Amino acid sequence: MITFLSGGTGTPKLLQGARRTLPDSEISVIVNTGEDIWYQGGHISPDIDTVIYLFAGSLNTDTWWGIKGDSFITHGAINGLLPGAFMSIGDQDRAVHLARAEWLNNGMTLTQATKKLCSHFGISGNILPMSDAQWTTYVRTAKGDIHFQEYWVRYRGNTDISEVIHIPEELPPATPDIIETIRRADAVIIGPSNPVTSILPILSCTGVREELARKKVVAISPFIGDSPVSGPAAQLMKTIGFKPDSTGVRAIYSDLVDLFIQDTRDTNLVSGSVRLDTLMKTPDIAEDLMREILSQVL
Ligand code: GDP
Repeated sequence: MITFLSGGTGTPKLLQGARRTLPDSEISVIVNTGEDIWYQGGHISPDIDTVIYLFAGSLNTDTWWGIKGDSFITHGAINGLLPGAFMSIGDQDRAVHLARAEWLNNGMTLTQATKKLCSHFGISGNILPMSDAQWTTYVRTAKGDIHFQEYWVRYRGNTDISEVIHIPEELPPATPDIIETIRRADAVIIGPSNPVTSILPILSCTGVREELARKKVVAISPFIGDSPVSGPAAQLMKTIGFKPDSTGVRAIYSDLVDLFIQDTRDTNLVSGSVRLDTLMKTPDIAEDLMREILSQVL
């Protein structure tokens, strides 16, 4: 069994390749929940939603969020009613958020709610939130602390930030399920997700680093040269004091990683890294990458 640590774009691309290489029952995904948000009465868990829709075969892979072909009727109707709306939510996607909100409000844990959704969508992959406790990522701006979703979706990352913070301050406990999933893994793959907002929250869950230390861990860099393939990772890496390139990513993962993979085109060489084509423009490229990784770790 292979266990992935995932956000909502880079690692899901790799998971497309993994699903062509391994049966779903041999894949576990520990998913970041630091970007979760209560929004318009629903509970959005953006990275979990993306991974669930991917496994269900319904993900919109143009955007890497939401359901392909979804309608936006409620979004259109609600916009004039609820001021301050900054996210477009499709109707079927919203149904998932509302169901999850209902379950959480009735005392279900996020792990239980995720399992219920997986069973509803007929998914045999093991998709797990990193924690059942809320631990939400905010950025500090001149206008105050704003939720990561607001920073990225409302402002498109175009605002100065001085700090990345998490609320509450106290570190979230890992769930027993994710500890067990790491223990059972033949290898753990830290996908090419945003190290600051997707992977560090998972590594911050109490007990995770200790478990990973006993495992073969592979990490794939989300940077090629001085830029990430997409998203705000460069600004966030600089803000937390790391170089915004693969050397910075390697430094963040420090002693955890046994095999570090960076793109063949990457000009910022990390010593000891394995060079592969990591730019997953198509599922075929993701499959080739995944086969290469598995040949190195299994
Ligand atoms: P988020 O939750 O939507 O922020 O998604 P992730 O954290 O999972 O992924 C965002 C990261 O994926 C960004 O830093 C990108 O650079 C990286 N990424 C996206 N596509 C690719 C790709 O094809 N190859 C690599 N190496 N990184 C990618």
